[in-house]
Amino acid sequence: MKYSALKGIQDILPPDIHIWQKVESTALTIFRKYGFQEIRIPIIESTDIFIRSIGETTDIVEKEMYTFPDKAGRSITMRPEGTAPAVRCYVEHHLYNLPSPQKFFYSGPMFRYERPQKGRFRQFYQIGVEAFGISQPSMDAEIIVMLRNLLEGIGLKEVNFELNSIGCDKCRPDYRNALLNFFKSRLSDFCPDCQRRYELNPLRILDCKVERCIELRQGAPLVTDHLCSECREHFDELIFRLQTLKIPYTLNPNLVRGLDYYTRTAFEVTSEHLGAQKAVAAGGRYDKLVEEFGGPQTPAIGFALGMERIVTLLKENWTEEHPAPKVFIATIGREAEIEGFRIAEDIRAKGFWVEPNYGGASLKSQLRKADRIGAEFAFIIGENELKAGKVQWKNLKKSEQGEAEIKDILTLLT
Ligand code: ATP
Ligand code: MG
Repeated sequence: MKYSALKGIQDILPPDIHIWQKVESTALTIFRKYGFQEIRIPIIESTDIFIRSIGETTDIVEKEMYTFPDKAGRSITMRPEGTAPAVRCYVEHHLYNLPSPQKFFYSGPMFRYERPQKGRFRQFYQIGVEAFGISQPSMDAEIIVMLRNLLEGIGLKEVNFELNSIGCDKCRPDYRNALLNFFKSRLSDFCPDCQRRYELNPLRILDCKVERCIELRQGAPLVTDHLCSECREHFDELIFRLQTLKIPYTLNPNLVRGLDYYTRTAFEVTSEHLGAQKAVAAGGRYDKLVEEFGGPQTPAIGFALGMERIVTLLKENWTEEHPAPKVFIATIGREAEIEGFRIAEDIRAKGFWVEPNYGGASLKSQLRKADRIGAEFAFIIGENELKAGKVQWKNLKKSEQGEAEIKDILTLLT
């Protein structure tokens, strides 16, 4: 029988994995400087955690969740995103009792039952950050700057930061009414989903991906024209902070994001090099969510970046060499192979990648393999070398060769 991975779900293999690791290690270095510490949150959670936070009328909850009953009949969902689990974790462990802010990051797979296509998978990876406890726009600016530094740190410069404010409980009802008025006369032309959204959550109409709905909503009222004075001040101060640090951004009053929990700041980072799926990262403020999860009133903000789309962009111009062995030890005969096995340990102890001959193959095929795996050096130990305590060495990159005492071989490698 022939098996393959499920549709929309892919294996990540070398050499790509080196690009993934570079993104992850750069993120770790940068997050540390801003005081973001790692949390490891579960991959499965109780389904209601997502329904209540992301929102019943969102695409994720309506169409995309991997939800199933466990053996005891509880409804379980494979996480489609990390913010809801992070908030659940924050509240469950009373982390609000610790000094504020509490800043966290996580990374790992997310699951959404979407139509697989370029840049869109059913299992995909995110690195996400969440900062709890600060309502001031300086925190919004900090995480946006941190995200920018991360993207620059991995070599992604041509990205666009799109910024919006989607208001708060105070100003949203007014905006909601403005939208209802605007959509009322043309409601029957919208898709059935949007007609339902009109009743339940008209803001969601602004996020509909159906071509006709996109046309119909041209000229709809803009949320930024309906912000209350506090939201307006918050947004202006964020923009001022970004300008102070000379961080480029674009205002996009149509950006509403696909999740209901956002308040005030919402942002998305896009790249023109990705085609249709051009968002590489997205985030926003969610000042009500901790309370909704039963915690004390706690403002918070976060973002998540999509690893596959980032790696796709990096691959286009990847010039760094992928890791390869420093030394391949070719041996002839059992005694030499045992000696090679020992020497390999000495070289590894100095921090180098060594591949030994595991026995059997001819010298010619061993050297061919050394070349194929991209080893920098081949050390050759035959009967004569064994007796004399020496190795023959070849530098396969420079086409040089020579002979060295076994005790001196480490000096060859620096
Ligand atoms: P999109 O508009 O592309 O569907 P989204 O708004 O659903 O994105 P978020 O929930 O904000 O995405 O997730 C943050 C990031 O995760 C996205 O910007 C994207 O890079 C990545 N992402 C989201 N869904 C997928 C997916 N199905 N496959 C690969 N990456 C994804
Ligand atoms: Mg989506």
